[in-house]
Amino acid sequence: MSNEYFDEFNMPQKKLTVAQRKEQIKELKKQLIASGILLEPITLSGQKIANKFWGKAWCDNLDTIAEYHSRLKVAKNYLRHGAVVDLKINDNTVTALVSGSELYNVEIIFKKLDQYATEEFATAVNGKINSIIDLLNGNFSDEIMSIICHEDYGIFPQENDLIITCNCPDYTDVCKHVAAVMFALSIKFDENPALIFQLRNVHTQNLISSEKIIFPDTDNHVESPHDNLSLDDALEMFDFET
Ligand SMILES: [Zn+2]
Repeated sequence: MSNEYFDEFNMPQKKLTVAQRKEQIKELKKQLIASGILLEPITLSGQKIANKFWGKAWCDNLDTIAEYHSRLKVAKNYLRHGAVVDLKINDNTVTALVSGSELYNVEIIFKKLDQYATEEFATAVNGKINSIIDLLNGNFSDEIMSIICHEDYGIFPQENDLIITCNCPDYTDVCKHVAAVMFALSIKFDENPALIFQLRNVHTQNLISSEKIIFPDTDNHVESPHDNLSLDDALEMFDFET
């Protein structure tokens, strides 16, 4: 039997065992590190991609979208092999390097929730979540979760809330590399759930105040008891061990 096959881009590829694939990725990482890139790889070690509230919520939400559902198995394999060799989040943008037939650059820009959506969201949950810690732990009712998942003003992005690019030759909406990165975000959100809010530009303190709603970029800022608790302070108090 030939040990060559043609991939989905009609490029000849050698069949590799899992061990060979992992070794190939390890070598690639060494080269990238030697070229001066500070890698932040994402690797899946167990069966489940996510184990905590926000990681699971992100993963479950992705799995309801047909394009991602059909790529779940391959995305898991990419993550198990360590093919997402670098994933960084800055402001509302995710950038990643993914090892496929070649090394590909993936960029996913999250559209920030606009003022209307932010107000709708904050008003809907106003006074119903006790603290940032509870928010990050997912300690709130199913009613709040349905608001958080609302398709108009919820935290999970809809298709047109994302600008996605990958420089591979696959021109489908969701290539394997994009799917791997999107599922890799579940692991990131398990480690640090605040990132999901950062990507949509949602100020978490606006979601827990029971008295005044404070919106950024307005002149109506009102001092609230939660103003003194920054997100960084909250994160320090939060147990992010995985
Ligand atoms: Zn791609």
